Amino acid sequence: MTISEQWIERADKVIMKTYGRYPIVPVRGAGCRVWDADGREYLDFLAGVAVNNLGHCHPKVVAAIREQAATLIHCSNYYHIPPQIALAELLCGRSFADRAFFCNSGAEANEAAIKLARKYSRETFGPERYTIITAAESFHGRTMATVSATGQEKVQRFFDPLLHGFVHVPFNDAAAIAAAVTPQTCAVMLEPIQGEGGVNIPAPGYLKAVREICDRCGLLLILDEVQTGLGRTGKLFAHEHFGIEPDIMTLAKALAGGAPIGTMLAREKYAAAFSPGTHGSTFGGNPLMTAAALAAVNALLDEGLLERATAMGAYLVKRLGELQAKHAIVEEVRGIGLMVGMKLTVPGGEIVKQGHARGLLLNVTHDTVLRFVPPLVVTEREIDEAVAILDGLLAAAAAS
Ligand SMILES: *Cc1c(COP(=O)(O)O)cnc(C)c1O
Repeated sequence: MTISEQWIERADKVIMKTYGRYPIVPVRGAGCRVWDADGREYLDFLAGVAVNNLGHCHPKVVAAIREQAATLIHCSNYYHIPPQIALAELLCGRSFADRAFFCNSGAEANEAAIKLARKYSRETFGPERYTIITAAESFHGRTMATVSATGQEKVQRFFDPLLHGFVHVPFNDAAAIAAAVTPQTCAVMLEPIQGEGGVNIPAPGYLKAVREICDRCGLLLILDEVQTGLGRTGKLFAHEHFGIEPDIMTLAKALAGGAPIGTMLAREKYAAAFSPGTHGSTFGGNPLMTAAALAAVNALLDEGLLERATAMGAYLVKRLGELQAKHAIVEEVRGIGLMVGMKLTVPGGEIVKQGHARGLLLNVTHDTVLRFVPPLVVTEREIDEAVAILDGLLAAAAAS
């Protein structure tokens, strides 16, 4: 038995089966590569689901974690936390936001956004104003409130009764949002580009139209940038592509270079609704995680990785376009920066498995969309390597 197989056998006995895990046991990573317990090398085009934007074990993040771990790991939000303050200054200084709340995940950041929107709206307009409009095929997390916000039946089934007060409308349909607004509506919550829903790009003018509806009806616009944020699309935040600003934005995945953290950022007008005691988190924004995030965001900016995401994203889309021209099972290639989807005419699950066998980590979402979210430090050579493997996988898939 290989070392990986031994671990898998042990996992089988004690780990809850919440994930359909692949038979791979990564134990080490550097840049765009990971190695498994038996020393097999993989080219990583999933990057921990858009988490490792800086590549694996970025030296500045590693150093920040080492140093902070030896200084103060945790103390509690009863006190002021210097790296948390510096991180909030950095994120607010680079965005529309005035204040940050820190938590530990994307779902928690969205929970905070939902609670803030409700509290602000109830205090400003009255207790009946609590409904949030979200999109079909959206994904906002796995807690009860974020499952209720998510527009996918497969995430919601088994967990009734869901949280009351969410209305789902088709993505890319501003008229549907306008039609869904009632006196009870308090906010619209969207991913600027849907990730789990299949890398769905907003139509030209969609987000601007949504912003206008929110302004006209006095609704908060909440953007879930948990996956699209932190340079993934070539801008620090994806909404910068569309000429709008939200009132609340949530971030998580890539924020701390792989360490768990989430944040909700808001304009002062709304942030003021969270008074002492109304929301909180034990670990949220603790010294260790915020030191890691501070190093990660600074590395992203200092090392030109936004520009790099734009350039490498264009190159990846061009190379994938060549595969589209060659393989009839490729229906469409779409993406912004290094958030790229390849829509197939067939389910992509087997291609992912065969990719693993050939040393390429990739992912399928929404059944038929191969999703490419490599580290932003990816090189043209690494893209060429992935495309060469994919070329073979698509040919094999078409033949079977
Ligand atoms: C991953 C994701 C989440 C959930 O984040 P967790 O850290 O898993 O809770 C929420 N929204 C979007 C858009 C995501 O991609």
